[in-house]
Amino acid sequence: MPPTLTDPFDRRIDYVRLSVTDRCDLRCYYCMPEGHNDFEAPQDWLSFEEIERVIAAFGRLGVQRIRITGGEPLVRRDLPVLTARLAALPGIEDLSLSSNAVQLERHSQALYDSGVRRLNISLDTLNPARFKAITQGKLEKVINGLMAAKASGFAPIKINMVVMRGVNDDELVDMVEFCRKHGFTLRFIETMPMGDTGRNAAEQYMPMDEVQAILQEHYPLVPGVMPGGGPARYMQIAGEELKIGFITPMSQHFCETCNRIRLSVDGTLYMCLGQDHSFALRPLLRAGISDAALEAAIIEAIALKPERHEFSEKPEQVVRFMSMTGG
Ligand code: SAM
Ligand code: SF4
Repeated sequence: MPPTLTDPFDRRIDYVRLSVTDRCDLRCYYCMPEGHNDFEAPQDWLSFEEIERVIAAFGRLGVQRIRITGGEPLVRRDLPVLTARLAALPGIEDLSLSSNAVQLERHSQALYDSGVRRLNISLDTLNPARFKAITQGKLEKVINGLMAAKASGFAPIKINMVVMRGVNDDELVDMVEFCRKHGFTLRFIETMPMGDTGRNAAEQYMPMDEVQAILQEHYPLVPGVMPGGGPARYMQIAGEELKIGFITPMSQHFCETCNRIRLSVDGTLYMCLGQDHSFALRPLLRAGISDAALEAAIIEAIALKPERHEFSEKPEQVVRFMSMTGG
């Protein structure tokens, strides 16, 4: 039997979300404050070699799936060099990327060739002025990035839309039609109170039940299945391929099936998006820890994993922005 990582609540941990930077070329208002520039210093970033060592250790401990995230992962220079190295590690069977797609047109083919196969792309609106207001960026670049990704052969490409009342809740049908046309999977997400930015956006919080009810007025939705779909609950339009996922961290948390931990750019393992339990690997790596001791440290860290987040009970608790933990 290959080894497995199990946490104190008997959940198997087989998925690592790896943040390769806390920087970003957008400023989505619910994620990162405008003008924010208090980033990790380059000497504190894990190097590609250090990341490879940690992910190799996770691979030996039974982790099979890695998602590269950030901040915006495409702002980390030479990312395809890292993804090629991670894709080649024993045990790592699934390498995926979360991105805002601003720089994807340029990097799409190299990423695909390096072994990344699945993409999650953030896109909250199809209206350029609104996109600018939400993110400070240019929608056109994202659309070009998405089309390049489609041409490169990524599958599936999932669009993640954070639904916010009074901001983009009038675009649910437009987004379904966009994804239907291009063969993308669509996932709607509830805003989470991560940092002040997330808490401010919580004022526009819209529960997924409401989103689903609006869509049901337009489409005959039936339960759907998405392999490797994670915490999303999927529906589909009867008789069609398009999958529509609903991610409900607030209205219906899915902590009892949590299978993941997060590694931040400074080498800290975070056990839960909504809690502060963490374990610093960088000092150990830089002190010359052996592979066996690194595996033991990871096992020790997993023992810290809390049972669940408390976004609803203690919304003030998490001071990290989403971009710091690796969302
Ligand atoms: N930059 C990449 C991107 O935007 O996809 C990857 C990192 S981003 C932090 C990952 C996801 O977190 C995005 O889908 C984003 O919409 C989501 N996110 C950020 N802040 C959030 C918040 N307060 N509530 C809910 N989702 C949030
Ligand atoms: Fe950047 Fe992603 Fe956060 Fe937007 S959600 S500011 S794209 S890290």
